[in-house]
Amino acid sequence: MRKINVAIDGPSAAGKSTVSKLVCERLGYVHLDTGAMYRCTAYKALQEGIDLTDEGRLTEMLGNTDIVLTPDGKVFLDGEDVSLKIREDNVSMAASKVSMLAGVRSELVLRQQEMAKAKGFVMDGRDIGTVVLKDAEVKIYLTASVESRALRRYKQNEKEGLVLQDLSVIEKEIAERDYQDMHREHSPLTKAADATEIDSSDMTIEEVVNAILDLCRKQTGEDA
Ligand code: C5P
Repeated sequence: MRKINVAIDGPSAAGKSTVSKLVCERLGYVHLDTGAMYRCTAYKALQEGIDLTDEGRLTEMLGNTDIVLTPDGKVFLDGEDVSLKIREDNVSMAASKVSMLAGVRSELVLRQQEMAKAKGFVMDGRDIGTVVLKDAEVKIYLTASVESRALRRYKQNEKEGLVLQDLSVIEKEIAERDYQDMHREHSPLTKAADATEIDSSDMTIEEVVNAILDLCRKQTGEDA
């Protein structure tokens, strides 16, 4: 089957990662979770006590930072497996902060474009269809209500044994992060003009995955 690239954008906890992984399994593609790269940046800044608004120091720090996303979904920061640590809620908020900075974005976007040069990737984030992979053959804008996203995040945190916060706190954080991501100056979260919007509030994961696979089939003209 002819390989293509798939861009999946959308707000926090809309199920982008889960869906991306399943689409990759079905197509034999590789998943690139760009949020993990902003999370690594934020995590390292927190560890090193760098002010999350200090663009100069953060950009300089990134120059000496190695981030590796492995095909089996692990995230290595300067050689350390930080896959779980970067999922904590304080890192989520910090990631949303550092992602506002143009210097941080341009460095990470360059790395992402380099990673997806060959075809056969499902890349998820906030600016994939609008900035990183403008020429992706399939573009999805995956969304869901704040309530259903908060519930999913709560269940996911519980399953992964992360610090468990009240549902209302998670809802508030998600709404705050939506606002930050949608209203920032550089590459705000927005649906690309040529993206297909999928509202997953009342859909099962399998239904969302099948809808995306259908779009891929239409693009390649083959069975996926
Ligand atoms: O997708 P995830 O929730 O892991 O992303 C963490 C944060 O990183 C988001 O809230 C967003 O601010 C930022 N991000 C971004 N651009 C991307 C991916 C993530 O600004 N392509």
